[in-house]
Amino acid sequence: MHTSEFGRFFLPGPTEVHPEVLAAMNRAMIPHRGQDMVELLKRIEPPLQRLCRTERRVLVGTCSATGFMEMAVRSGVRHRALSLVGGAFGERFAAIVGATGRDAVRLQVPLGETVEPDMLRDALRRTDADAVTLVHSETSTGALAPLEELAKVVHEFDDVLLLVDAVTSMGGLPVETDRWALDFVLTGSQKALALPPGLAVAVASERMLERAKAIPERGAYLDVIAFDTAAGNYQPTNTPAISLLYALDTQLQRIEAEGGVEQRWQRHDAMRGVVERWAEGRGGELGFSYLPREGRRSWTVSCLKVPEGVNGRELVQAVKRKGWVIGTGYGELKPTTLRIGHMGDHRPEKVRELLGVVEEVAA
Ligand SMILES: *Cc1c(COP(=O)(O)O)cnc(C)c1O
Repeated sequence: MHTSEFGRFFLPGPTEVHPEVLAAMNRAMIPHRGQDMVELLKRIEPPLQRLCRTERRVLVGTCSATGFMEMAVRSGVRHRALSLVGGAFGERFAAIVGATGRDAVRLQVPLGETVEPDMLRDALRRTDADAVTLVHSETSTGALAPLEELAKVVHEFDDVLLLVDAVTSMGGLPVETDRWALDFVLTGSQKALALPPGLAVAVASERMLERAKAIPERGAYLDVIAFDTAAGNYQPTNTPAISLLYALDTQLQRIEAEGGVEQRWQRHDAMRGVVERWAEGRGGELGFSYLPREGRRSWTVSCLKVPEGVNGRELVQAVKRKGWVIGTGYGELKPTTLRIGHMGDHRPEKVRELLGVVEEVAA
């Protein structure tokens, strides 16, 4: 273990898992087709629905989030998707569209920027797409897409599904699944939910299920219809990662004890605020600045440009020697940025303390 004290591991995924949640996994197995499993799946349904802001079934699968990105494409894209790309995960979604034999038309913006509603409308007018793929909180750049507005634009077009990667937004900032009529929204366990990796979570709209039924070759393991049918009976599709379900059960109780998802959003907003004020003050004086513009910054991951002449990767290593973990920049942003994953069970006070360490190392 890198440190004994909770609250120093700020990687933008996997995130630090609270000791209570880790302890919950240390329990005996149960038969996955038995009554105990039915009761477990029944118990987690209401808090999962509150977390995902939906009255629909919440699908839980044993795979990382990318598995459910593939589910989104295999079950939700007929021929062509318009894929919004502003970073590595947007590109991953587009690549999955291509890898499954569909056509991906990329609507690309520079790293750190987001596709805006007018751009999306123009692109949809020009493209004969039957779905849109987008990443809400682009973890590689820290940019937050204006999802509510983008969803409205998609719904101006007939028969175009909106498939949303909410991996670093669900649970950490507002994702109004039902109110914004998202057709498919997915997350993974190891980001804002602060569970160990290995589970994916999603909600599929009625339109999505209808679309899926009309696509015969959706695959087997990640078939959204199979997941929906199983969930309706409080059954797993296959043998699930039972220990992770114990962790999810406990984490959902902890989220409710905190005051629910809205309370959690507020705490994440506060953590973003701590970083923003630092970047405007002491951090800015040292030469740190945000990659995304104001109003487009994720509440769960802050991507900061490092001062001129400083190597981002070396800075991150120096922070590690002080006993704190943050993320390097992603891909081509590695030398010039760093990323702080302030999500899950982290608290604003610790983010402040972390920034003090970054200051010390950079000065
Ligand atoms: C981490 C991440 C993923 C991929 O998650 P895996 O669990 O590694 O498959 C996808 N999208 C975003 C935005 C992410 O942050």
